[in-house]
Amino acid sequence: MEREKLTYNELLSEANELRFKLEEANDTIEAIRTGQVDALIVHGEGGHQLYTLKTADQTYRMFIEKMNEGAVTINHDGLILYSNSRFAEMVNMPLQKVIGLSFDSFIREESRQRFNATIESAWDRECKEEIELISRNREPVCCLLSCNTLELDEGLALSLILTDLTIQKDTEKQLKVRNGQLAMAQSATEKLNDELEDTVRDRTVDLLISREHFKLLANNIPQMTWTHLPDGTVNFYNQRWRDYTGLTLEEERYNKQQIIHPEDYPLTMEKYTASLKSGGVFEVENRYLRADGTYRWHLNRAIPLRDETGKILFWVGTATDIEEQKQQMEKKDEFIGIASHELKTPLTSLKGYLQLISHKKNDLPDGVQQYIDKAIISLNKLQRLVNDLLDVSKIQAGRLEYGLQPVNLTELVIEWTENARHIYPSYNFECKVADGLLINGNDERLEQVLMNLISNAVKYSPTNNHVVITAEKHNNDARVAVTDHGIGLSPAQKERIFERFYRVEDKKFMSSGLGMGLYISKEIIDNHRGEIGVYSEFGKGSTFYFDLPLAG
Ligand code: ADP
Repeated sequence: MEREKLTYNELLSEANELRFKLEEANDTIEAIRTGQVDALIVHGEGGHQLYTLKTADQTYRMFIEKMNEGAVTINHDGLILYSNSRFAEMVNMPLQKVIGLSFDSFIREESRQRFNATIESAWDRECKEEIELISRNREPVCCLLSCNTLELDEGLALSLILTDLTIQKDTEKQLKVRNGQLAMAQSATEKLNDELEDTVRDRTVDLLISREHFKLLANNIPQMTWTHLPDGTVNFYNQRWRDYTGLTLEEERYNKQQIIHPEDYPLTMEKYTASLKSGGVFEVENRYLRADGTYRWHLNRAIPLRDETGKILFWVGTATDIEEQKQQMEKKDEFIGIASHELKTPLTSLKGYLQLISHKKNDLPDGVQQYIDKAIISLNKLQRLVNDLLDVSKIQAGRLEYGLQPVNLTELVIEWTENARHIYPSYNFECKVADGLLINGNDERLEQVLMNLISNAVKYSPTNNHVVITAEKHNNDARVAVTDHGIGLSPAQKERIFERFYRVEDKKFMSSGLGMGLYISKEIIDNHRGEIGVYSEFGKGSTFYFDLPLAG
């Protein structure tokens, strides 16, 4: 009522006075904070009270002002007597407004009970507790509260230090998440590890089985076997090999030269080294020394085992005893040699007599001449066969000898084609030759090769009579080729047709012949330092060719 009676001027002066007091209070607070004053007057329920900050000298106050923790001093009623700037920041309020407020008002409801209990004990002893503050904009701030009593002139106060745990809590949370992830990853790793161990165990068993399997197989086959590394070092010999040579693996490594027959050693090593280099199949016949001091012929074969990238891991080799076959072959060659030689003389005289009779045409009864002609044709065939047999046995004995002289291959091919036209009048021979192909050779032997290729072309093209004969320059060689459109050859047959006595085992196309022609041809071309080969497609026809080095 009294207030209502105040005049406007009185109100104005009161307002001025209050503003002045406020400014004064702010100045005081600033002065206390920065250490310019040591006392504070607080207007409480019991009137004005003076608090002296006698223990806090300027240095400490500055230190407290700058520290990272919130620092607050409260009295028994829980009123804030002092706060540093950090605490004001934590609760998001201007510092001036914080001082004088009840600290309780910054405690989050959920923490209130714990806070009250802590404060109660704090008057007797130092206490610590985790609590949550609530800022002015309603944000919870997790803090560690440390309480210590503080003796001021006007009585006991509490110094509260509040360490902001937000970052720590976040870190803990993240750590928890990371730990969870880590635990998951660890259990996944453990699972993987278990699976891996299982796989390794299974593989080890597989490996053991396959190793034992290999050993069992290797020691029970009738051949001698070995395995060697890509550099040629042998790392396994089967029992049969050790029994045969009487050597251990170690002894064998250093005695290779001693167990291979000296005559076979160079070729064996040449082929072995070539296969190691090229990765191609190793195949050679040689004689191995047995523990009893005798040599026996063996057929050696080794093939490489590769990984999925094609890299050679090791080689697996076998040596098959072919001594018996060799002896039988030798006997057969001997027999062929003698028989063909013995046949040659009576055949020659038979041919002579037939020719003599045919010269006396007029004395012969009607029709006999044509029998004589047929007999001469058969005799020629027989002579060719016997000559081939003789050649084969000469090749075997290394005695197929003949001289080489300059030869005009172009002319010879034209001449031989003309011969073929006479011999096989029902066939159409197309001849394409390049001019002046000069070589060093034996024309009789080369004629033998070409006539053999031509007679094969005729023999093995029963339904197509077109044969092409070419002679041309091919790199530094002269190439002569005979192309037919006959039965052709499969890849497997192609590999073997130059072997002695090899004939394709196909009843449908069986014709006269003993499988000697190509063998002899190859020998002759090899002796000319040339090369013989074939391109062929089964059912479509073949091209047989030979290359001879051009002269000059
Ligand atoms: P043969 O006297 O049996 O003809 P060769 O040594 O001349 O002996 O030939 C060996 C084998 O090669 C023959 O038996 C035949 O199976 C095959 N051969 C040779 N030439 C041809 C060809 N032009 N077409 C198809 N097969 C052929």
